[in-house]
Formats: sequence, structure tokens, C-alpha cells
Amino acid sequence: MMKKFEYCFLCSGVLVGQQVTKIQTWKGELVGIIENVPAWVCNQCGERYYDAPTLEKIDVLLSKREQPKKNLIVPAYEF
Ligand SMILES: [Zn+2]
Repeated sequence: MMKKFEYCFLCSGVLVGQQVTKIQTWKGELVGIIENVPAWVCNQCGERYYDAPTLEKIDVLLSKREQPKKNLIVPAYEF
């Protein structure tokens, strides 16, 4: 993966390449959780940045509506 970003736009922290679990929502509804997504994570504030091809792949994954690897039941709370 090419390093497109070096520093966090929010706090200027250093971005570190990590595999994260991305929670994808659409109009307030949870549409899917994608595991092991490559991301750049700020070492100060935790903000995540994704490469364009990564976001495209997520779109494809969700739009194909393939059988997911597993289904989760996730409790949701109002803060
Ligand atoms: Zn930051």
C-alpha cells in the first residue's frame, strides 16, 4: 500500500499503517462491518484515513451483497 498521507489533518499526528475493522453506515443504518481493512491511523487522535482503492473495494463488497463471512448481532445504545 502506498503511503498517501503522512500526517493527520486534524492534529498533525503521525499516521501509522494498520488493519482496522470498519463500521459502514448509510443514512444512519448499519450496513456492514468489514474486517482487516488497511488504514492509516493517527497515533495521537485515532482518526483513520483510507486509500481510494480501499474505499472502492468496500463499496463493491457491500453493493454485491454477497453472503458475508459471518453475521453479527450488535447492541446499539443512545449516548
Ligand atoms: Zn490526529
